[in-house]
Amino acid sequence: MSTQLINTAQGFRDACDAVRRSGRSLGLVPTMGALHEGHASLIRAAKQLADEVAVSIFVNPTQFGQNEDFGKYPKTLDRDREVCERSGATLVFAPSIEEMYPAGESTRVTVTGVSSGLCGATRPGHFDGVATIVTKFFVLAGPCTAVFGKKDYQQLKVIERFARDLLLPVTIVGHPIVRDVDAVALSSRNNYLSPSERARAQGIVRGLSAAHRAFAQGERQVSQLTGLVLGQLSAQQLSPQYVEVVDAETLQRFEPGQTAAPRCLLAVAAFCGTTRLIDNVVLGEDPDPILAAAQAHSA
Ligand code: AMP
Repeated sequence: MSTQLINTAQGFRDACDAVRRSGRSLGLVPTMGALHEGHASLIRAAKQLADEVAVSIFVNPTQFGQNEDFGKYPKTLDRDREVCERSGATLVFAPSIEEMYPAGESTRVTVTGVSSGLCGATRPGHFDGVATIVTKFFVLAGPCTAVFGKKDYQQLKVIERFARDLLLPVTIVGHPIVRDVDAVALSSRNNYLSPSERARAQGIVRGLSAAHRAFAQGERQVSQLTGLVLGQLSAQQLSPQYVEVVDAETLQRFEPGQTAAPRCLLAVAAFCGTTRLIDNVVLGEDPDPILAAAQAHSA
């Protein structure tokens, strides 16, 4: 394989430095592996923006809660390397936990504000874990263009925030959500779903699409918009963890009685069986997610 597999922090730092020393720009795509077409799309986008692309593959323990799926998160490194190679990456960084968290480590990067609601409210400590590991990747990689999916919209906002606050020499780029042919957002966690759960998972994007249509026709009542999503979740026996309309930049919540802004994020987290799935649409900006998926798959 022509991708270079690197396991040590120093090795990754050296490889990234070498890219820049040769006059080439660097793209970075941090992932937890179990790569799918969504990750591949991020790698291809990074390759459009930079001469060489590094992909990190690391299941980061500090972003998982105690009762979450850290222990069973899928690990498919050989396949992942193939996805990286075929999508245009040249460096794959797959460190051990000990390499990223030296013995005795006691440092966390905490972002306030944008990390407090949505997933931050339901997964305490999650964004501290994310901000800490992504800071480490940025410190090792050095100046680069880093591409993140809008599937994890709040994560993208958290990363934009600390990159700016810590004056990191990184350009952050957000990439549209890649969806399966039935418009369900691709996710490594879809691997956990049984065939019947996978079919029911469509309820999430159907709800987002219904709210998108209503918004396009002028509906601005937050409770109406979230109600359309809740209706579709309930029809597919999905248990909502949150369905919220928030400001697309600050992520500040619009209360049910309020009017939504002309551009706002409608975000969902719901359980399909025991699997927690998230999805979102930026109302007033994104296309209808079901139409977008149909278009992407017919192209
Ligand atoms: P993960 O491996 O789940 O931590 O995701 C790594 C990166 O891929 C993150 O920036 C995610 O937002 C992004 N990503 C995951 N799924 C998708 C998707 N369906 N569409 C776009 N980006 C995605």
